[in-house]
Amino acid sequence: MSSGDALIQDFVAGRYRAIETGASVRCPIQAIVTARSLAGREAALLREAGITGRLAVVSDENTHEVMGKRVEAALSGAVSVVLDHPHADAVTADRLRERTRHCDALVAVGSGTLNDLCKYVSHADGRPCAVFATAPSMNGYVTSTVSITKGDYKLSLPAHAPMGVFYDLEILAAAPPRMIRAGLGDAICRGVAQVDWLFSHLLLNTPYYESPYDLQLVDEPALFAAAPRLMSGDLDAMVALVNILTLGGLGVVVSGTSHSGSMGEHGISHFIDMFAKPHPGSLHGEQVGIATLTMARLQSMLLAEATPPVLLPVPIDAAVLEARYGEKAASCVAALEAKALGGERLEDVNARLERHWDEWRRALARLVVPPVRLEATLAAAGAAIRPGDLGIDPDFYRTAVGHAHEIRDRFGFLDLAALTGRLESFAATEG
Ligand SMILES: [Zn+2]
Repeated sequence: MSSGDALIQDFVAGRYRAIETGASVRCPIQAIVTARSLAGREAALLREAGITGRLAVVSDENTHEVMGKRVEAALSGAVSVVLDHPHADAVTADRLRERTRHCDALVAVGSGTLNDLCKYVSHADGRPCAVFATAPSMNGYVTSTVSITKGDYKLSLPAHAPMGVFYDLEILAAAPPRMIRAGLGDAICRGVAQVDWLFSHLLLNTPYYESPYDLQLVDEPALFAAAPRLMSGDLDAMVALVNILTLGGLGVVVSGTSHSGSMGEHGISHFIDMFAKPHPGSLHGEQVGIATLTMARLQSMLLAEATPPVLLPVPIDAAVLEARYGEKAASCVAALEAKALGGERLEDVNARLERHWDEWRRALARLVVPPVRLEATLAAAGAAIRPGDLGIDPDFYRTAVGHAHEIRDRFGFLDLAALTGRLESFAATEG
């Protein structure tokens, strides 16, 4: 058993003590089980996680074939719900609610989309859910939030965590290679997200939690070491990936917010999802992987500068945003206003930068994983390292890097670069 497994089991048992409070963290998840194979254990696992009564097993055509039919066969009387190319949107959620209304609990067999749909629908009705993972493609299996599209907007909404999260390593290792590589991309963003989030805390006094990083600290080196073996069916390498994805998600359980693993790098990915027309079909984690490299390069560049940066007053130009974002401009104006610095606030922030920059940049530099190491890790698993590898137009990617800070209220190094007049020239070197 690796240290990550022990830490996850401690967390589930409520024995993990948050650094912030010293108090143990109540875990809403009853069971997280990772094993070479879970075949034959499906019914017992669900029972132990408190999932009882009439169950709906929710899959799509692919995941039904891979694992859904096996789970159904193991559960007598379960209702089979096989969705046709589902999207995590409000319309699909309504349909799923209708099709499962006579069931006591939902069992998702799939990855991000199916898990989010089941968490969202079951939470709204006060029913429990569980998930059998079919791909190690993202870190949202254990989180209580969901990503649901309503109209044109992709929203991060509160829901609840599954009662049981089950990883069958043989199934995960046989997942489509792109989904495994996407999981690696989502798993390596710890360093860049931490630098952004801690910098925001130091400079602007926004909330910050150390526990999400404490949870990943010991196991992260094992993930980097595992990358070259990840695509060859090596189950130990798969455990290293699953553990970091799980621990990253548990960090969100501690802090109650996604900030610990979703800062500038996720902003760039969200920009791609919102504005790439047509969307190239790249996966969340694939985008996060290349954006993590971008953020690591930006952070390394700015942290290497000994002279304290001086932030400039940058007015929010509603007309420019209107021209760029159309009907989405209002939400961008709101995001920028939430983190706007002007007048006395700006003077205060610049005074703090002048006084503390050297101390801060040394502290932040210690958290940075060198960009070359991140790139080598992705490359070792055959994952994308440039937007073109994913079919993303490099020009559009440069636009995403240059403007991603306008779509979210989270403050980080994209903002630091923008407010010191260097974002445009940096973005021009990316892609
Ligand atoms: Zn992510």
